Order: sequence, then structure tokens, then C-alpha cells
Amino acid sequence: MTATYEDWLDVYDVVYDAVPGNADVACPNCGHHTLRLVFTADPDRDVGYGSFWCDTCLLGVGLSRVVIPDGAIVRDRRLPPEERVPKVPNFRLVN
Ligand SMILES: [Zn+2]
Repeated sequence: MTATYEDWLDVYDVVYDAVPGNADVACPNCGHHTLRLVFTADPDRDVGYGSFWCDTCLLGVGLSRVVIPDGAIVRDRRLPPEERVPKVPNFRLVN
């Protein structure tokens, strides 16, 4: 069974709503509780790009122009990609 894009969005919603807490939900693909949600944005903006992925199977989704919730992990978009922290691995996007 392969997780669809909609499956990923369902889990994304749960994790997003839990920020800055940890929803501790399972990856829809591999079942490990290793999902990560990191935003990339200008520091003075409250809208940015959301990267949501699983550290175990390295699948995930990317979401443009999402509102960044208070307490979220945000990387500075103005920095070169290699200097942004935390590092986002080169995960595979689910379409
Ligand atoms: Zn996984």
C-alpha cells in the first residue's frame, strides 16, 4: 500500500495543528514516528514554504505559501541553502 498525496496532507494537518508541540503521529508511508515539519521564509514574513517529510523513509511533501504557526521551526530564506538550519534532507516529494 502506497501513501497518496492526500494521505500525506491529512497527516500534515495533524502535525501542523500541534505546532509548537509534537503530534507524534506515524509516517503514512513507513509507519515510523519520525515526521518533521520545517518552514523556510523571510524572517519578517508569516507566510513561507513548508517542508514536511519522514526522516526514516525520506518521503514527504512541500507546501507553498502556508501561514507559519507560532513556535514553528523556521529557516531564513535569505541565507544560501547550505547555511540554513536545521538541515532539510533531500527527501523525495510525493505527488
Ligand atoms: Zn516514513
